[in-house]
Amino acid sequence: MGENTDDLILGVDLRGSKILAAVVNSRGEILSSNESATPVTGGHGVVIQAIVDSSHRVLKQAGIAISELIAIGVGAPGLSNPETGILFTSPNLPGWRNVPLRDIMQERLGKKTFVINDANAAALGEFCFGAAHGARNFIYVTFSTGIGGGIVIEGKIYTGAIGAAGEVGHMTIDDEGPICNCGSRGCWETVASGTALAKEARRKIKEGVRTSILEYAEGDVEKVTAPVIHSAAKQGDRLAKELIARTGYYVGVGLANLINIFNPELIVIGGGLSNIGDMLLEPAFKVAGERAYKEAFQAVHFASAELGRNSGVLGAATYALQEMGKLIGE
Ligand SMILES: [Zn+2]
Repeated sequence: MGENTDDLILGVDLRGSKILAAVVNSRGEILSSNESATPVTGGHGVVIQAIVDSSHRVLKQAGIAISELIAIGVGAPGLSNPETGILFTSPNLPGWRNVPLRDIMQERLGKKTFVINDANAAALGEFCFGAAHGARNFIYVTFSTGIGGGIVIEGKIYTGAIGAAGEVGHMTIDDEGPICNCGSRGCWETVASGTALAKEARRKIKEGVRTSILEYAEGDVEKVTAPVIHSAAKQGDRLAKELIARTGYYVGVGLANLINIFNPELIVIGGGLSNIGDMLLEPAFKVAGERAYKEAFQAVHFASAELGRNSGVLGAATYALQEMGKLIGE
């Protein structure tokens, strides 16, 4: 690994539940990685200390000193400005308000640091090393507890005026729909996320609809999750199948909007909910085909994300590398 010492980056994927840190080279190879729980209730000081600790561990594992890194890239959930490295707010990091994440990291680790939205990072990861390799215009959408997105236009992540672009999960799909974490109503993630699917199932169960879903959740309605509903659907449970198809319908409505606005050549779909596969995606693609312009729909390819849990660290590292290249070039 000695010959790569000039292109090593530390990538960090900060989530509400976990911190994943990895030492990465410019070919997207992971030399070492470390996962730890996010001490989310401790506030930003405690969480940033946990990132610093995790960074030291992963560097030690790889046998690399901080001085050998080119830069550090951090993918963080919520709204952040990549120009200033300030994280404005995050539904997954309660209490965080205008935290100068980049500057604090830089001060603690003594290394140039860049901050990017987590879904934008994942999009960049898939663009450079995964399912979107070679694409020029594509959209990455991750369906999980929420819905995140990243927009790549002409080979560059599109971050918008203050870095808030790509929040596809918060486009309004149902103007009278459920209240969203963001404060709005009927956002895409309130009807097409894993959380939305589970919530609707719990509501139906409480209403007394006949279903075997509870058998897959230890009889506890609070333990009903998207994977539980999927298990029941695979065994032919009617409600479970209907709920997944309904979620797929809303997935498709949102995809149609993205297709009509961006005319992407590719949409990369990731996130835990998408593991449901055809049962969710067939109705989604059907609805997207019915609602989007026919020519634009015919021009788009769909692909599954390929990098799994590593998309965020690879993308955050890539972002840092790209930005350093830009800085050196200027
Ligand atoms: Zn919202």
